[in-house]
Amino acid sequence: MMQNLKASHIALWEIEVGEPEIENVGQAIRNRKVSQGAITEEFQSKLAEVMGVRHVACTTSGTAALTLAYLAIGLAPGDEIIVPDRTFVATMNAAMMLGVQVRLVDVGADRPLLDPALIEARITPRTRAIVPVHLNGRAADMEAIEAIADRHGLAVVEDAAQAFLSRTGDRCLGTRGRFGCFSLGMAKLLTTGQGGFIACHSTSDYHLVQKLKNQGVFDVTRGSYYGMLAGNFKFTDIQAAIGLAQLRRVPGRMERQRQIYHAYKRGLASVGCLRCVEVDTDRGELPLRAEFLCTDRARFASMLAERGVPVLLQPPSLHESPLLPAQPEFANSEVYSRHLLTLPCGPDQALSTVEQVIAIIQSVDPSMPSWRAPGRDARLPA
Ligand SMILES: *Cc1c(COP(=O)(O)O)cnc(C)c1O
Repeated sequence: MMQNLKASHIALWEIEVGEPEIENVGQAIRNRKVSQGAITEEFQSKLAEVMGVRHVACTTSGTAALTLAYLAIGLAPGDEIIVPDRTFVATMNAAMMLGVQVRLVDVGADRPLLDPALIEARITPRTRAIVPVHLNGRAADMEAIEAIADRHGLAVVEDAAQAFLSRTGDRCLGTRGRFGCFSLGMAKLLTTGQGGFIACHSTSDYHLVQKLKNQGVFDVTRGSYYGMLAGNFKFTDIQAAIGLAQLRRVPGRMERQRQIYHAYKRGLASVGCLRCVEVDTDRGELPLRAEFLCTDRARFASMLAERGVPVLLQPPSLHESPLLPAQPEFANSEVYSRHLLTLPCGPDQALSTVEQVIAIIQSVDPSMPSWRAPGRDARLPA
């Protein structure tokens, strides 16, 4: 009987780190390659090659990548940047740690991405940059954003932490702006435990980032330099050794990510309380997580918990942060704040587990309110 379906040991997120990584790390240590060196260089070149970008600089985290990019474009206390209201808090925190303020902009009604039509009203004389976020592999409208940036003399830094190897056409996301920032944390497509990287095309920008990573010095063997305020955001060869093993898993993972997305989308199409937040895989976008809007997500999550299925209620929008001054109303991001959830997924989640989750969800209480009930705007849930 469907009502009795119950699962055990389903993880919200599955990403494997195993024997190939152990082998690579052992070899690195036996060769005394521990801190940033030759293996980091090799990892950076491989990342640059797969993304079709000239330079990659690895750093301690995706947040650090954003911090370095913000420093590299010259942001200083009192400056402002344009950030979408829906993103991981790091996009904002990296700026605010530098004394830079964020000017939030609502996302589109159909996709939780920076709405270019709303940007110009938020630009002030202190605004220095626009930071589009390619949330869950969805491509922000870079053409429109770049046109606005050009008109106002602003830099563009792409937060592509959730969009590694996601594309529009043949172009990887995060490779258009002056800097693209990526994460190598556990909740991303490939991981080095912690870590991140910056992609850029300009060699002088690459040198600038390497100096900001390393006390203002590009190559310590060629002497010290006290002329640039910088820090230590260096990577390690141990992480790079893990990363190189992880890279070999990526083609299979990309395929799995698409299969998981389509299995959920198809399998849950008739479940009235859920609506898939779509990712355009036909254009080359690569979904990272299985995201759905649920009419009553707290009730849904507790029903699923009883059946052994973990559900992640996605965090609120940035404008709800008590660290910010009073913010305008953001009608679209509000919907995501209240209704967005993530189902069990991840690049190494078994498809059989996904099928099991789908069957369990199909068996949940049919009295759950439906998006399709009369009086509800089918496009934008209230
Ligand atoms: C993960 C993430 C980051 C930060 O990356 P960390 O490696 O966790 O510091 C930044 N922005 C977005 C959109 C992310 O998803």
